[in-house]
Amino acid sequence: MVSKSFGLLQDIPVCTLTYNEMFTPSHSNMMLWKCKNCSKEVTNRWHHYHSHTPQRSACPYCPASYSRIDTLRSHMKIKHNLFIKF
Ligand SMILES: [Zn+2]
Ligand SMILES: [Zn+2]
Repeated sequence: MVSKSFGLLQDIPVCTLTYNEMFTPSHSNMMLWKCKNCSKEVTNRWHHYHSHTPQRSACPYCPASYSRIDTLRSHMKIKHNLFIKF
C-alpha cells in the first residue's frame, strides 16, 4: 500500500483515494472535512489531499507540501532545522 520509493523519514499514509473520495463532511463542524485516509479533520481539503500524494513533496513534520523537492528541502532546513537527502 505504501510506496517503497517514497522513502521519507517516517511513515506517512499514502493513499490511492481520489480527491473527491478522500473527504466526508465533518459531523462536528460544518467548516471541516474529515479525511478518510488519516481521520484528520481539515479546513483545506486541497492542501490536505496533496499531503497524501507522493508526487508532491509533503513535509512529514507539518502540513506544508511543495511541488518541488528542493523547495521542501529548504523548508525543512529553515523551519525544522533538518537536512534531508532525497
Ligand atoms: Zn489525511
Ligand atoms: Zn514542515
